[in-house]
This record gives sequence, C-alpha cells and structure tokens, in this order.
Amino acid sequence: MNLIHYNAIINTVPPHVKLVAVSKMRPAEQIQLLYNAGHRVFGENRPQEMKAKHEILPSDIEWHFIGHLQTNKIKYIASFVALIHSIDSFSVLQAVNKYAEKHHRVIPCLLQFFIAQETTKFGFSWKECKEMLENPIFSTLKNIKIIGVMGMATFTQNQILIREEFKKLNGYFIQLKEQYFAASPEFKEISMGMSNDYEVAIEEGATMIRLGSTIFS
Ligand SMILES: *Cc1c(COP(=O)(O)O)cnc(C)c1O
Repeated sequence: MNLIHYNAIINTVPPHVKLVAVSKMRPAEQIQLLYNAGHRVFGENRPQEMKAKHEILPSDIEWHFIGHLQTNKIKYIASFVALIHSIDSFSVLQAVNKYAEKHHRVIPCLLQFFIAQETTKFGFSWKECKEMLENPIFSTLKNIKIIGVMGMATFTQNQILIREEFKKLNGYFIQLKEQYFAASPEFKEISMGMSNDYEVAIEEGATMIRLGSTIFS
C-alpha cells in the first residue's frame, strides 16, 4: 500500500464528500497506516471481519458497513457500527432496529437501491421501498435512523450508463426527501461511487464515496 494514492485522492475530493476507505480483506496494519495519516472512516462488508478489526484498532475509527447484511450477523456489529450503507430489505431494517435497541443505540442507515443492469447486486426497487416506508410498522422503529440512500452502478467502462444510474439514485433521493423525509434534516446522504466511477458519482451528487482498490494498492 502506498499513501501517495490516498494523498492524491483526498486532495481532490470536495470537502462536502466523505471518503469511506473500503478496507475489506486488507490487514489491520494497512488500516493503521491510513489511520496514522489521519483517516478515520473505514468500510467493511463482512460482520465478523469488521468486529475483529474494531477490537484491535483505535476506538475512534468510524466503521461503516457496506455489504449485504444477514440478520443473524447483525449481532457482531450492532454495538459499534457508525453507519450501515446497505439496508436492502424491510426485514433487515427491522432486525437492525431490534439489535440497536438491545444496545440502547440509534443506528444510522442508508437505503440501498438497485440501480445497475446486473442481477448480482442487492437493493430495493422504488416500489419495494415505498411499500416499506408506508407500512405502519416502519414508523414504530425507534432505534434506526434513515439518513439517505446508497447504490452501486453497473461494473462497466460505459460512462454514459454509469452516469444514468447515478442520476437515477439521485432522483430517488430527491423523491424520498420530498415524500417521506421532508421533516428530517438528517436525511441528506447519497453514497455512490467506487474506485472505477467515483468522479462521475461526485459530479452527480454523491456525499459519500467508497474507495477500496484505488487507495489500498
Ligand atoms: C468493495 C466495495 C467497494 C470498493 O470497491 P473498489 O472498486 O475497490 O473501490 C465499494 N462499495 C462496496 C459496496 C463494495 O463492496
């Protein structure tokens, strides 16, 4: 790992955009190096791996969970996770609420939308999301806070397609804000953009980008 990549990127990211360093499968030593350079926000996609790293690394790290979350694994991260980017079903959200309650916390969450032309990516459709938000049970969940949306574009070199997908996610964000979260100033985050496409994502309104390979190589 080379801090030159990190320094070059962090200097080009606008101040309103939070850089999540995706440290999945990277050893704790590399995270510590970035930490020593001043970075505090790290993203992981496996609950047990995140827990293990949380236990040995400095306690002021902000741990973001970015992968598909199985309900039986929420217990590993519920006590400390700073943000879950990847809420992709009502059942996961209800389970997160349950574990957050156990730990007397309110866990910030993003709603993950399916925006790609691939069958392998998780996320809500607009209809599914609407159904969840209009379900009376949703408003009883006191230990989660929805603060925005997340999405992954198709893995392609087609910049036009990528841009369309990010525009779509931004459109969902605006619609949700108007229809369901107008009274919630915390609802303001759009997590989109990875190593391959983060520049387009920033142009299309990302407030959080999730970079792995381009930082840790
Ligand atoms: C791995 C991963 C990233 C980072 O991907 P890179 O291409 O390595 O930047 C971002 N978001 C999610 C959800 C991921 O799983």
